[in-house]
Amino acid sequence: MEILDGKIASQAVKEALKQEVSLLKTSGKRAPHLVAILVGNNGASETYVASKVKNCAEIGFESTLIRLEETVAEAELLATIEKANTDDNVDGILVQLPLPKQISEQKVIEAINPKKDVDGFHPVSVGKLVQGLETFIPATPYGIMLMLEHYNIPTKGKHAVVIGRSNIVGRPMSVLLSSNHPYGNCTVTICHSQTANLKEICLQGDIIVAALGRAEFVKADMVKPGAVVIDVGITRVEDASAKKGYRIKGDVAFDEVAPKASYITPVPGGVGLMTIAGLLKNTLQAYKSR
Ligand code: NAD
Repeated sequence: MEILDGKIASQAVKEALKQEVSLLKTSGKRAPHLVAILVGNNGASETYVASKVKNCAEIGFESTLIRLEETVAEAELLATIEKANTDDNVDGILVQLPLPKQISEQKVIEAINPKKDVDGFHPVSVGKLVQGLETFIPATPYGIMLMLEHYNIPTKGKHAVVIGRSNIVGRPMSVLLSSNHPYGNCTVTICHSQTANLKEICLQGDIIVAALGRAEFVKADMVKPGAVVIDVGITRVEDASAKKGYRIKGDVAFDEVAPKASYITPVPGGVGLMTIAGLLKNTLQAYKSR
């Protein structure tokens, strides 16, 4: 068994981006600029956005964090997005999800200029992804593809089982793995909460991507020996013995599954770090295409 280390793979991606930005700056050009909009004080969202901003600084991107109150009106958020849409110095815009109840996530996603849609959630981006056209790939599945590439994991002709059908992870992941791509060309089964015989299907997977958001759901008896196991889940599980009062758990019961797997991603230290690498790559792509 080998660990697919998100720290190592994301560092390699970031190093390449850093060099590219440095070249841009020496040639007198401005740096790529990401605008992140955070609504409210959700603890996990705060952590994710802080990490995105920090990573931008590390590789020489400019970033602006816009914070809005939990009670902000939808119209104000939409106006904030529109301002960034029309600002020539802004290349990428992301609105951290989830959003408070008074705001329609769909409206917000559709308000972002598709040319600046670095999260890849706009229907235009999704449509292009499905048609195999160049676009912004949602950061988490993009990060997983970068991870497969970094470790040169063979995927052609393999059976990939994706658990979860969300627009953020599962569905785009299934599209990418099935596409005609050096790390695609899989036969893909996408599973969800209504799937019958999930265990039997998982046992057929040469590659399993677990993205359902249920701590330690995938057990050893669901995994074929030698499978590649990608754990996307991030769940806070209460634990009085932990400093913060909780621990982060993935969707895979790591200790029992790891000995059976050929490759496995840890949580934390796996897909989460690759997600940021995907976002940074999208931001540079947005900069270049403008
Ligand atoms: P979601 O709640 O939108 O979707 C979960 C999906 O899992 C749904 O499609 C549902 O049908 C399916 N599902 C739920 N219970 C199931 C079951 N018992 N059997 C089979 N399928 C089931 O969640 P999401 O946004 O896709 O996120 C999934 C997990 O990944 C969460 O833990 C989230 O925190 C994590 N996540 C991690 C990253 C990262 O960077 N590592 C990024 C995004 C999401």
